[in-house]
Amino acid sequence: MATIDLRSDTVTLPSPGMRAAMAAAPVGDDQYGEDPSVNELQELVAATLGKEAALFMPSGTMANQVALKLFTRPGDDVVVSQESHAVWHEAGASGANAGVQFTPVGSGGLFTAADFAAAFKPPGHAIFPATTLVEVENTHNRGGGRVFPQAEAEAICAEARRLGVASFLDGARLFNAAAASGRPAAELAAPFDLVSIALSKGLGAPIGSVLAGRRADIARAQRHRRMFGGAMRQAGMMAAGGLFALRHNLGRLAEDHANARLVAEALAGSPAVDLDPSTVETNIVVFHLRPGAPDAARVVEEARRRGVLVLAFARRTVRAATHLDVDAAACRRAGAVLRAIVDGR
Ligand SMILES: *Cc1c(COP(=O)(O)O)cnc(C)c1O
Repeated sequence: MATIDLRSDTVTLPSPGMRAAMAAAPVGDDQYGEDPSVNELQELVAATLGKEAALFMPSGTMANQVALKLFTRPGDDVVVSQESHAVWHEAGASGANAGVQFTPVGSGGLFTAADFAAAFKPPGHAIFPATTLVEVENTHNRGGGRVFPQAEAEAICAEARRLGVASFLDGARLFNAAAASGRPAAELAAPFDLVSIALSKGLGAPIGSVLAGRRADIARAQRHRRMFGGAMRQAGMMAAGGLFALRHNLGRLAEDHANARLVAEALAGSPAVDLDPSTVETNIVVFHLRPGAPDAARVVEEARRRGVLVLAFARRTVRAATHLDVDAAACRRAGAVLRAIVDGR
C-alpha cells in the first residue's frame, strides 16, 4: 500500500494542471517589477487580504524575518504566542537577523489582549527591552492548528495601536483559519499592520509566501527581501503555481479539516494520548504521549514501518497534518495505525 505522508502540508506535489500553468506563465525580471505573473499574484493577494500592496517571498520564514526587520531594532522585544513558529521553527533566525528577543504569552498558541498588555515593556526605559511588535499566528501550528479568536485578535491590535506597537499576523495557514471560521481572510487580516500567507502549505504550490500590508511598508520590505538574498528574477513560474493554488485549492480546505478530525477521533479515545478532538479545528493534529506510552521517536519510527509518516514535534509530542494529497480513506487508515501504536499493539 502507498505510504501515507502526514508529516506536513508542505509535502504536496504540484498537480499536472498547476505544472501546466507554471510552464505557461508569462515572466519577466521581477527586480525591475516586470514579471507579469508575480505582479498578478501580488495584486490578487493584496486584494484578497484587503491590503494596499503585497510582496512575493521565497519562503514563510523569510516573510517572518522581513516582518521583524520592518518593525523592530536590535534589542527590542516581540510578544508572541507560546510555541510560535518564530521561536521554534526558524533556526534561531530572529535573534541572528533582527537581534530581537521574544516574550511568549498565553497557552496553546492563543493569548489575550490582557496577556499582551501585561508583557508589554515601554520604550525609552533604561532597563527594559522595548516591545515594538506583537505577533499572532493563525492558525497556530504547534497549538494543533488552532484558529485564533477574531475578537481577541482585534482587541490585541487595538491595544497595540494604543501602545505604539506594530502588529504582524503570521498567516502561513490563514486560509485554513478562514475556512474553519467562515470569515473571509480579509476580515482576519484587517486588524494587523502586516500579514504573511503561505502558498506552499495547504494550498499545494511548490514554493512561496506573500507579505501584505501598507504600500510604504511593502516598499521597505522589498529592500529587506533583497538584503536577505530573497529577491528573484523570472519568479513568475513560481508565482503561477501560487495563482493556480488560490484559484483552485481554496475551496477544498474544509476536506483537509474533516480528514484531520478522522485522525484525531481515532486517537482521542486512547488512554495513551492527550488530545481533545474538539480542539482539532483545521488540518493539524498535535498529540502528546502520556507517561507509559512510547515516546515520539518510537511512534514516528513504528508508524513509518507501517506506512504512515508523521513528525516528532518534541520528545513526547507528535504532529500529523492533512493536505490535498491524502484522502479520507488514507486518513482513516493512518488514524487506526497511530492508535494501535500508541496503545502498544
Ligand atoms: C511553515 C510556516 C512558516 C514558514 O514557512 P516556510 O515556507 O516553511 O519557511 C511560518 N509560519 C508558520 C506558522 C508556518 O507553519
